Amino acid sequence: MKILSIESSCDETAAAITEDGRKVISSVIATQIDEHKLYGGVVPEIASRRHCENITGVCAEALEKADMTLDEIDAIAVTNAPGLIGALLVGVNFAKGLALAKNKPLIAVHHIKGHIAANYITHPELEPPYLCLVVSGGHSHIVKVNSYTELETVGKTTDDAAGEAFDKAARAMGFQYPGGVHIDRAAKQGDAKKYKLPRPATKNPYDFSFSGLKTAVINLIHNNEQKGIETDVNSLAACFQDTITSILAEKFMAAADELGYTKLALAGGVAANSMLRDKLSEMARACGKQFYMPDISLCGDNAAMIGCQGYYEYLAGNTTDMSLNAYATKKLHML
Ligand code: ATP
Ligand code: MG
Ligand code: FE
Repeated sequence: MKILSIESSCDETAAAITEDGRKVISSVIATQIDEHKLYGGVVPEIASRRHCENITGVCAEALEKADMTLDEIDAIAVTNAPGLIGALLVGVNFAKGLALAKNKPLIAVHHIKGHIAANYITHPELEPPYLCLVVSGGHSHIVKVNSYTELETVGKTTDDAAGEAFDKAARAMGFQYPGGVHIDRAAKQGDAKKYKLPRPATKNPYDFSFSGLKTAVINLIHNNEQKGIETDVNSLAACFQDTITSILAEKFMAAADELGYTKLALAGGVAANSMLRDKLSEMARACGKQFYMPDISLCGDNAAMIGCQGYYEYLAGNTTDMSLNAYATKKLHML
């Protein structure tokens, strides 16, 4: 089954053609990062307008790269939640138009389920059930993946998401948006023992809290500025990255033990972080658990992951009609 999938939840306009939930035939991503960089973060109205301008070309390019026409597509899948509402509405309405004009089934996909499904592309053998750590710009979740379409959140952030903390700390360090990748690079040149940073506690052991850690980074930089002390940015990046990836990895591995999982996966934009990948791979290896993570190219927002999840939603009977709407927030266990 060939699906044309569309993703427009944040600042990437993306389209892909995928086959049977595992194979990517073509994938096109038009990123708006260079424009949002000027403002230090995503400006929602600009994002919506750029999606509006780019979506036709991105979908046409995905078809062209696959050497296919719309008539050869079996269904249309689209991210309808969660994300920036104005951005989501562009993709949803475009998908509805295509489905209506060509009389194809329409499939709504939860963006975070899509991030998790990126693993199915990289690992054709991976099947639920497993426990997944989802770390992205807006989420830090520990998720029980009971089946391809039934997911359950057991822990989440009580304040900032991991990616948000990376980006805000990076901004204080003088890096451009999105800063996660800059911290990753700078940390390689730094001393991870130079600065002591807090590890905020949470009531529920499976939850996360990163705002205190982010604030500690910002305060350290300001205090040094006031005292005329130069901050060693590479070392601060290394300390921050070491602290946040340790918290994520240790809590996730503890949850896996307590909940009895031996199959684990990682997903979301922050899954591209080299230290998090290394730490989780090593910890899983040491205790004999199977660990899966998407190829780095599939960690950030893309439409291929939406097409893969869309396939499994279709198999589960989860198609939708022309009343489909977009939602800025949506719980993972809801259809
Ligand atoms: P969500 O998926 O929660 O709706 P989003 O789609 O905006 O949010 P993603 O695109 O999934 O977020 O992920 C982007 C985040 O990943 C950004 O915060 C970015 O800084 C972070 N990120 C990307 N690469 C790295 C890296 N190498 N190290 C740390 N963070 C990274
Ligand atoms: Mg993005
Ligand atoms: Fe995302």
